Amino acid sequence: MLIDSHNHLADPRFDGKRDRIIEEMKSAGIVHCVVNGTGPTDWPIVADLAEKHPTFITPSFGLHPWRIHDFPDDWLPSLAEYLQRFPRAGLGECGLDRWMTEPNFSSQIEVFEKQLALAAKLNRPTTIHCLKAWGALLDCLRSAPALPPILIHSFGGSLETGRELAKLGAYFSFSGVFLDERKAKQLDIFTLLPADRLLLETDAPNMLPPADYQKYPIEGLNHPANLQGISRAFFNLTQITIDQHVKRSVKFFKIDDFSR
Ligand SMILES: [Zn+2]
Repeated sequence: MLIDSHNHLADPRFDGKRDRIIEEMKSAGIVHCVVNGTGPTDWPIVADLAEKHPTFITPSFGLHPWRIHDFPDDWLPSLAEYLQRFPRAGLGECGLDRWMTEPNFSSQIEVFEKQLALAAKLNRPTTIHCLKAWGALLDCLRSAPALPPILIHSFGGSLETGRELAKLGAYFSFSGVFLDERKAKQLDIFTLLPADRLLLETDAPNMLPPADYQKYPIEGLNHPANLQGISRAFFNLTQITIDQHVKRSVKFFKIDDFSR
């Protein structure tokens, strides 16, 4: 039994292939996944998927920092509506990114803080993307009047940053990109973070893992069923058991049912 804590099944690159992908995920042992939206254009697709596969998909709605330049003015009330319509939905993907020079960083912070406040108000598990903006992320989290449960997806920060985030209650998800031999340092960091805060993800169709872990080729994209191979490496590395993996994922996302 595996749970993918972060993917983008609503991504247009998966158009016309979703039913087949979901069947392949189930045959690879995946019993549940969290599908993240990135902005108003994919929120309706995330919503449709969650309605069609209620025991397999937990929806998550958020405005990704890469997408904030093309959001409509009413994005925040619209996001709140989606969260109210789906009481088991998370908020995400949201976050901060200094690897990208656009959209400008002050707009990113403003949009992120609004989402954080909404998630705290509704107490929704919140999935955060962060690249090269760890200091700013810690500042936002520490200055927030209240925090929702937070997951730092595909955590690529330092051990010191991870420990500071853990003090704020953060969870961290491990993705297949860290199995690249050039990322060995990040693997070590995952073994030193609190094991009861570690989740597993693919970020599919993004973050293609190294070739050995691409067991489900799909036109150069990361197939979410690749989680099967990625999970074996993760369990070996961290000594986390499948049972613990399932319990932690269920607890964080308040998952109440699986596809069996
Ligand atoms: Zn993502």
